[in-house]
Formats: sequence, structure tokens, C-alpha cells
Amino acid sequence: MAEKLSAVKGMNDIAPPVSAHWEWLEDKLRSLMLRYGYRNLRTPIVEPTALFVRGLGEVTDIVEKEMYSFEDRLNGEQLTLRPENTAGVVRAAVEHSLLYDGGKRLYYMGPMFRHERPQRGRYRQFHQFGAEALGFVGPDVDAELIVLACDLWAELGLEGIELEINSLGQPAERQAHRQALITYLEGHADQLDEDAKRRLHSNPLRILDTKNPAMQALVNAAPRLMDHLGAESLEHFNRLRGLLDAHGIGYRINPRLVRGMDYYNLSVFEFVTTQLGSQGTVCAGGRYDGLFEQIGGKAAPAVGWALGMERILELLKEQGKLPGQPAPDAYAVVPDAGSVPRVMPVLRALRQQGVQVQMHAGGADGMGSMKSQFKKADASGARFALIFGPDELAQGCVSVKPLRGPRPGEDAAEAPAQVSQPLADVAAWAQSLRPTIPR
Ligand code: ATP
Ligand code: MG
Repeated sequence: MAEKLSAVKGMNDIAPPVSAHWEWLEDKLRSLMLRYGYRNLRTPIVEPTALFVRGLGEVTDIVEKEMYSFEDRLNGEQLTLRPENTAGVVRAAVEHSLLYDGGKRLYYMGPMFRHERPQRGRYRQFHQFGAEALGFVGPDVDAELIVLACDLWAELGLEGIELEINSLGQPAERQAHRQALITYLEGHADQLDEDAKRRLHSNPLRILDTKNPAMQALVNAAPRLMDHLGAESLEHFNRLRGLLDAHGIGYRINPRLVRGMDYYNLSVFEFVTTQLGSQGTVCAGGRYDGLFEQIGGKAAPAVGWALGMERILELLKEQGKLPGQPAPDAYAVVPDAGSVPRVMPVLRALRQQGVQVQMHAGGADGMGSMKSQFKKADASGARFALIFGPDELAQGCVSVKPLRGPRPGEDAAEAPAQVSQPLADVAAWAQSLRPTIPR
């Protein structure tokens, strides 16, 4: 036998029954985005490496150590598997002048790639769903995006997700804070880890984002960016707070919240939970008014967030909120293999009417016993068995046998009994198998 091959470390297959949870979550997300007027944008998974180096900043975890970068063997181009998608969205917006007629509200979902140490809630291929509002100065859209996320938690039935917000001000304000921060950190040089020492002069703000427990006390007492904000930045922040208050959305101001990319300014926020161990950030984002120019476009304000789909699904599991498995409406029991050519077109007609039907598939020695077919029908979760026996077929009929009791909220007396239905006119009774078929 040939050597067995496995998936790349930190990259996962998503197979049934788990894939049904993903589809359920994706449907919820799409439906919510439509209600808020956001439209789908799909960009390539591979982008020029320069997009991330310039967009995210050279002295960031992602660019310094997490990117899957390679040289195109054919033309020597430097390419990278996208580690996030905000830079790609902005590149596409610039490339196709998406903002020519005003702001755009966009969403995306798909795989991202970061070379991290795989652990619960942290993978090398993971999936983000992101929302970006391009061309709006805010803070109304900043608030809209946060409210949207809160609606999502509510619709998913998730509890215990807390909102943290901060303001990163504008570059000049960060410059003043930077000086104060460097002076403070230099005064405690003995407490800095390797990363912090390296970043002390290249990107000291990033040190506040450290995950090193030994440095928490030090960064907690560091000078606050908030104390260096000018009137306009404070006004933006306070208006955002007012809008959150108007929605009754609670939040905590976290002055240490600086986010992992350099492109942010003004509003930044994270949604966090204590129920996922140390990978507790489920959704994060902020304003990035400088990014358009940074990657060579015309200046445009923008704000957005991305959520980690694996972490959301993990939290749904933790809180027992995952949906049940999808089940077909009906399972076709076919006692005699010779009937299959007659049965399959009937099932096709039912499906064309919107009914979900699974056919019993035979083996090398026929269709199997009725008993084993009914066992499969039951295991499928189907509400009805369609019995295509020789007697039924001779009369041009199929027996429809209920396998389940009444639906929730349905009177037991109204629960269907076994009936016979004509094969000739499937449309007349398809509805009885699936009462929710849209007409
Ligand atoms: P962390 O601090 O956990 O490394 P981050 O700040 O690097 O997160 P972002 O770049 O803001 O994360 O990505 C947005 C969201 O994507 C995160 O809040 C998280 O839910 C998810 N995410 C980020 N990296 C991973 C990963 N390696 N595996 C799974 N989910 C991830
Ligand atoms: Mg990270």
C-alpha cells in the first residue's frame, strides 16, 4: 500500500456532520448581512506579498512570523496566502474604483492562513467572516458594525460575549504617546521580553498587545494613548459611545486594546469571551482610514471587523447552541432492484417540487431486506418513508408512511397516517411531505 497522506498540520478537513454546522452559521451570517445592506465581495486567496507588508505593517506578528509566502516559480513574483482579508478588500476597492459612486458596505468569508502554533481556537488555516464599510467617516457606521455583531450573537443564541473598545486616535497623537511609552519602557528594560526589546524603537505600541503573562503588569501601568487624544478624536470616540448607549449595548473601555495590525486608527474593538480558554477573542476590528493611501489608492475612510468562524462554532458547542443535523423529508424504500428505473424519475420529480428525498442505495446483491431499509430510513431522520413495493407500483402508487410523531406544536390527532399517493401526479401531494415548500 502507498504511504498514507495527511492534511497539513493546523489545517482541518470539515466533514459531515460538522460541515452542517458551518452551513448553518454561513446562512445566518448571510441573512443578517442582507438585512443590514451589506454585499458580498470575493477576492483571491493569493495576493502580492507587498500588500500585507505595506498594509499590515512590517513590525507585526503576522508579517514578521506568520505569513505563508513563496516565490512564483514561473515569474519570480513574491506571493502570500492571505493571512487576513481587509487589505485584499481595500486593494480590490482601489483596483475597481468600487467607491466611485459613494460608500460601500461589503462582507466576505473564507479561509485565511497564518503560521501559528496550532491549539484550540488557533489554526494555520482558519476561516474568517468579515464586514467592511468603506467610504464612511463614522462614527455611525462604526456603531452599526458593532450593533450588527451584537445582533449576530443574539440570533445565534450566544451569551457572555463582552465588548471592549478603545480609540487609537490619529498618527500624530500616537506619535506623542509613542515617546512617552518608549521612555516608560526604557525605564523598565529589565522586564522586557525578546519581542518587546526588538520592538521598543520600531513599534512600541505593539508591545501593549503582548500575550506574555510576565509582562501584563508592566503594560497595564504603561502611559495611555487615551490621555494623548486631541479634541476631534475624543469627539469621535464619545459619539460612538453615545450610539452604543442608545442601543443599550454595554462595553468596557480597554486602553490596552491596540490590535495586531498597524492600519487601525480611532475606533478599535474586540468581542471577547472567557469560555474559550486563552483564545477568547471571537471578533475584532476597527477603523482604518489610512489603509487606502498606504496601498496606493485615493484616501478613503473605512471601518470593519472580522470574526473567527472556528471560535464562534466552538463557543456555540460550548453553550449547547449548535443546531440538530439536517434530515431529508422522505426516504425511499425500494424492495426490488428491478423497480429502480421506475422509482428514480418519481424521486426526481419530487425533488423538482422542492422535496428533500434520499433513495435507498442497493448493494451488489440487491436492495437489502425491508428491515434493513427501514433501519436506514429511520437513521436518516426522514419524516416519511416512501414505499415503492411491487403491489404499490402495480397500482401506479407509492405508500407514504410516517416515521415520526407530530411536529412540535402539531396536534397528535393531526399527525398524518399512512396514505397511498399516485405516481402520475407528484405535484399534487409533494406539499404533504414538506409543508414549508415556498409556493
Ligand atoms: P489573536 O490575538 O487571537 O492572535 P488576532 O488579533 O491575530 O487574534 P485578527 O487578526 O484580529 O486576530 O483576526 C480576527 C479574528 O480571527 C480573531 O478575533 C479570531 O477570532 C480569529 N483568528 C485569528 N487568528 C486565528 C487563528 N490562527 N485560528 C483561528 N482563528 C483565528
Ligand atoms: Mg494573532
